[in-house]
Amino acid sequence: MDLLPLFHNLRGRRCVVVGGGDVALRKLRQLIDAGAAILVIAPEINAAIRKLAQKHTLSIRLTPFSDTDLDGAVLVIAATNDQAVNRHISELAQGRNVPVNVVDSPELCTVVFPSIVDRSPVQIAISSSGKAPVLARMLRTRLEGLIPAGYGKLAALAGKHRNHVKERIGNPLDRKAFWEEVFEGDIAELVYSEKLDEAEKRLEQKLAGNQPQQVGEVYLVGGGPGDPDLLTFRALRLMQKADIVLYDRLVSKEVMALVRRDAELIYVGKTAGDHPVTQENINEKLAEFALQGKRVLRLKGGDPFIFGRGGEEIAHLAERGVPFQVVPGITAASGCASYAGIPLTHRDYAQSVRFITGHLKDHSLDLNWQDLVAPNQTLVFYMGLSGLESICKALIARGKAATTPAALVEKGTTARQRVFIGDLTTLPDIVRKAEAKAPTLIIVGDVVKLHDTLSWFKG
Ligand code: SAH
Repeated sequence: MDLLPLFHNLRGRRCVVVGGGDVALRKLRQLIDAGAAILVIAPEINAAIRKLAQKHTLSIRLTPFSDTDLDGAVLVIAATNDQAVNRHISELAQGRNVPVNVVDSPELCTVVFPSIVDRSPVQIAISSSGKAPVLARMLRTRLEGLIPAGYGKLAALAGKHRNHVKERIGNPLDRKAFWEEVFEGDIAELVYSEKLDEAEKRLEQKLAGNQPQQVGEVYLVGGGPGDPDLLTFRALRLMQKADIVLYDRLVSKEVMALVRRDAELIYVGKTAGDHPVTQENINEKLAEFALQGKRVLRLKGGDPFIFGRGGEEIAHLAERGVPFQVVPGITAASGCASYAGIPLTHRDYAQSVRFITGHLKDHSLDLNWQDLVAPNQTLVFYMGLSGLESICKALIARGKAATTPAALVEKGTTARQRVFIGDLTTLPDIVRKAEAKAPTLIIVGDVVKLHDTLSWFKG
């Protein structure tokens, strides 16, 4: 081991920062967070540090460094752009046994700053011993994604009850099991959903041994339009936690591959006009599994609250008293528009955007066409492939210019994405000839013109 990681209590202790630029600023922010008594020494300081000094107590001395500045310091940071000064400070500090950090000069340091994943009071410090800071930072980014933002609150809750639990559960192995259940189970989930009072109540009940009958939970999660990189951290966490998964046809196989390996998978997909599992049936299944104590993942394409019947499903759960949480996903409109280089709004072309169902009922579309032909808006039709021609004709019939640009995005955000561009007259033919297959999304409006210059993703 090159360096021993230690967590340093700097609260109220004197830390000296020599330097007044951006490098010093970064260290100052960390020292402020740690509650240090900070002295900044530099002939000049930049505007950002001046601003910081208005909000926090910093002693600032606008002079060059002098040797007596180290008196009483428990840590010194040299962040000047003069390497000779930095070296002098390092030697002086080492001579006095004061820990010293010289930014970007590992050979002059006796302590280095790690990359930090901060879920205070939980902290993860990562160091490459000054050898590959970029690698340490990359690792940090990966961990940030893995650790829920609510971890700190969970740790604080545990800290509050630690002694009490120790008194109640004498056997260390039982105590360990108790905490594992708290950190993995529904109490942690309550904390992440900001239901702190309820989490605390549940913890107390658990400790008193009178747990209410174990009820599971339903996670209604948006799986996004296809590219698994577009999942949210929360979605991924719950996907890894679920015991049982009810999923739709629209959830891509790349996204499905991220679900917990030993979870039971149940396909409840619908193909238009053909409903192998009825909506009532799905609603009922979700409630039943959760009431059996299972963690149920209801995984949907895109966002569950946009043409996803998510509302109906959780209404049923609410009625049955089943706990649930809803995780938004990237809806097809956002995903397809981004990956096709078609901004949905644009100051020059569209001040609003509408998400519309293009699903034909009894072979016709019952929409408020008058509203839809108004200028300066973008229209996005979901489920519109078979109705494409009717949609285009209806818009023209109500007064929309036949030359209005229109796009159809097939399997947006995936490696198989195709984008077809035309206008209200030409698009149906283009799409027919290319034999586009669902899922597809239709975008109508002047913003479609931007595709030529802004397209970046090659499916
Ligand atoms: N809840 C979903 C929409 C469900 S309705 C969401 O928020 O995206 C199903 C329709 O979504 C499809 O008919 C299609 O119009 C659209 N869609 C979903 N994924 C898509 C994709 N990857 N590419 C194009 N359209 C998509």
